[in-house]
Amino acid sequence: MIDSSARYDVVVIGGGNAGLCAAIMARRGGARVLVLESATKDFRAGNSRHTRDIRYMHKAATEYVTGPYTEDEFWQDLRQVTGGATNESLARLTIRESEQLGDWMPANGVRWQKPLRGTLHLARSNLFMLGGGKAMVDAYYDTAAKLGVDIAYETEVSELKMTDGQLTSALASRNGAEQEYAAKAVVVASGGFEANIPWLKEYWGAAADNFIIRGTPHNRGTMLKELLKHGAKPVGDPRGCHAVALDARAPKFDGGIVTRLDSVPFGIVVNKNVKRFYDEGEDIWPKRYAIWGKLVAEQPEQIAYSIVDSKALPHFMPSVFPPVEAESIPELAKAFEIDPNALSEVVAKFNRSVRGSRFDPGSLDECHTEGLVPPKSHWARPIDTPPYYGYPLRPGITFTYLGVTVDEQAQVIMQDDQPAKNIFAAGEVMAGNILGRGYLAGFGLTIGSVFGRIAGREAARCAGY
Ligand SMILES: Cc1cc2nc3c(=O)[nH]c(=O)nc-3n(C[C@H](O)[C@H](O)[C@H](O)COP(=O)(O)OP(=O)(O)OC[C@H]3O[C@@H](n4cnc5c(N)ncnc54)[C@H](O)[C@@H]3O)c2cc1C
Repeated sequence: MIDSSARYDVVVIGGGNAGLCAAIMARRGGARVLVLESATKDFRAGNSRHTRDIRYMHKAATEYVTGPYTEDEFWQDLRQVTGGATNESLARLTIRESEQLGDWMPANGVRWQKPLRGTLHLARSNLFMLGGGKAMVDAYYDTAAKLGVDIAYETEVSELKMTDGQLTSALASRNGAEQEYAAKAVVVASGGFEANIPWLKEYWGAAADNFIIRGTPHNRGTMLKELLKHGAKPVGDPRGCHAVALDARAPKFDGGIVTRLDSVPFGIVVNKNVKRFYDEGEDIWPKRYAIWGKLVAEQPEQIAYSIVDSKALPHFMPSVFPPVEAESIPELAKAFEIDPNALSEVVAKFNRSVRGSRFDPGSLDECHTEGLVPPKSHWARPIDTPPYYGYPLRPGITFTYLGVTVDEQAQVIMQDDQPAKNIFAAGEVMAGNILGRGYLAGFGLTIGSVFGRIAGREAARCAGY
């Protein structure tokens, strides 16, 4: 039972990866720490429990990674995906500090596993958690409890109280009753606002009603809004988000990793009006999967259909839902309630335009289309071998990019460019400082772990330890 009248040194808002790293570090630093988490114990740890792997800098191969991944290569990869939309000093700090995670995470209960097949070519740069993100956060919760960190579940913070630029307490609702938690310092680690459809609609309009949220329904951005209301300096594009093509049959929230669809490069994709709208084979899938959420979001009614034939099936990881199967293209179209004649024509035209015979799913092969708009640049093979298969696609939002500006101590920066005295931020709520655009697989956890550790250490220091 948590006593809300108890005086804590550090209150952490949000018990995902970033919040747990902060709580463990602050407690190890000597502070009395309380974590406030909106979810129940079963659904704790937000989006972090859906993860599989983390990107980190390392000098040599180990039992768990196949080769070195240097600061320079990491930085070049980040520069490429963000197109320069990153704060270089915070980004380099994240990269350099990530080197410690290979040891720090196991020291706090996380176990690694060797990479498996179907891991988006990450075996050299990323570490995979044994048991995935769920096992990682369970290990952190165990470690935190053993260290004496208090955790309040089903406690959603609604308001931050500030006086003279300093946070004094957090107001939360718990079992229907309002509670006030005072603290000397606070770490905000409450994720993005991807589960707040009305807020998404401010930037996406009615289309946002058709988005599927891949992670927790609890990341509604209430704390982000509070910080911005109190004058924190925003960072990141409000419309920016990581979004993939998901199986449209996925649940509205929390479907996790198994609803993603990787069939796109091996067939064609059409919208509701049976029009292709983008090069399905533009580049290798790890570099392109994260643009397909936005592409589907821009289609009528935010729906599209991935169409493949039986030759394609062995080449991609299927979604958790079986594909829709048919003996002919018109039958497949009827199952999706789209125009059968139009789909037959699109497939026939595509098949006629295919050139090149050396199909290689593992490289940018020579199988492409000629005279087709939009083109398909690689892995183009005629769709001609029944049975035919299709998956309905919807935009699946992973997380949003709008956040609060922080400095190298994870202190929240206010509109006057001064740091808020006792407010720190870590994880998705500040990731936009480093990831202004694009994404690098495994980097969400890197940012949250590095800044969670910094925020916990600095919050304890701020509280006098
Ligand atoms: C399906 C999926 C797969 C992913 N795979 C990977 C991967 O393999 N590698 C990787 O690096 N990244 C991955 N990501 C991204 C990754 O999950 C995030 O970058 C990371 O987990 C964010 O950590 P966080 O602590 O900031 O947020 P979260 O883990 O989402 O934690 C935020 C917590 O705050 C709580 N909260 C929210 N609002 C309040 C409030 N007002 N009061 C109290 N508590 C509140 C929530 O309940 C939640 O527990 C994936 C995301 C998804 C959805």
